[in-house]
Amino acid sequence: MTIVPNLNIVPFVSVDHMMKLVLKIGIDTFLRELANVVEEDFLRWESFDKTPRIASHSTDGVIELMPTSDGTLYGFKYVNGHPKNTREGRQTVTAFGVLSDVGNGYPMLLTEMTILTALRTAATSAVAAKHLARKNARTMAIIGNGAQSEFQARAFKAILGIDQLRLYDIDPAASEKCRRNLAGQGFDIVICPTAQDAVEGADIITTVTADKQYATILSDNMVGPGVHINAVGGDCPGKTELHKDILLRSDIFVEYPPQTRIEGEIQQLPADYPVTELWQVIAGMADGRVDDHQITLFDSVGFATEDFSALRYVRAKLHDTGLFEELDLLADPDDPRDLFGMLLRCEAAMA
Ligand code: NAD
Repeated sequence: MTIVPNLNIVPFVSVDHMMKLVLKIGIDTFLRELANVVEEDFLRWESFDKTPRIASHSTDGVIELMPTSDGTLYGFKYVNGHPKNTREGRQTVTAFGVLSDVGNGYPMLLTEMTILTALRTAATSAVAAKHLARKNARTMAIIGNGAQSEFQARAFKAILGIDQLRLYDIDPAASEKCRRNLAGQGFDIVICPTAQDAVEGADIITTVTADKQYATILSDNMVGPGVHINAVGGDCPGKTELHKDILLRSDIFVEYPPQTRIEGEIQQLPADYPVTELWQVIAGMADGRVDDHQITLFDSVGFATEDFSALRYVRAKLHDTGLFEELDLLADPDDPRDLFGMLLRCEAAMA
């Protein structure tokens, strides 16, 4: 089954098809290839149309739209963040996205992005760590063992060779679930009773907790020299994970400063506090890690170009898989100006 047999038919990737696509490609290969595409797009950062995401906040969570374009393709993601959702049997984060042709404005792909977001977030974290963590890093602490956690672990193993995990979650059942899901995949896993225990001896600390407020997942005394922090969970105004003193001791790397200053850990710092854009490190235009004692912090909030990378990767991979449905999303009257006539013909056919 080739893709786009008919320009008016939009390929739609359901959750079921996405899972089958990931498994057909292989989780590690998918993460590595996606990381390459994310990196490729960071390398052409200046060709993207960029804006902080458009967020609609409520007392329970946030709904966001994340658009970007490289002038040829346009992509956006709809994503929510509702920490209370897991108590009601729902995901904290769900998403779907669209990729369109800038030339005619027609959508070329509609896809689930809940699984794809977890994969692209993990791939992006691993890309950042590849440039920022110590080269000999083997051990990662993961604080917050919810939906994102196994994806983070798999990406760090596939891309950096991290195979020692130290897990902590306020809910021990989440850590048990994480250990169960990662069993037999080449990790040594220790579940720790406190966050303090989890970071003991860790080269990389990933914080990926969900909360609706400022939380101190890591305090200053928990972060020793040489550590790379992958701070994923603090991604909204009023929602952070790290004590401010850690930020003051770290070299901070961000995706898109205008968005991260609103949403990231650095919302705790003055608006002109110096940070480095990750794309500049990848492009060799700025320093990443310069010595083994430096504390590096990737203040991840998730940026639209990463979703764009994921959308274009998935579209390229769909060819000949059959892992999509053909969606009748776009009206296509024989005469483009006869939209109403098409409605009348439908009425006649129904009579
Ligand atoms: P989730 O609700 O499935 O899991 C969160 C886990 O954090 C839960 O198991 C919870 O018990 C645990 N937790 C909460 N407070 C804690 C604390 N103080 N100490 C230790 N554990 C704690 O959520 P998820 O889908 O895994 O997402 C986690 C966070 O990552 C969310 O805030 C989400 O918005 C964010 N996120 C960021 C990006 C990005 O690109 N930066 C992408 C996806 C998700």
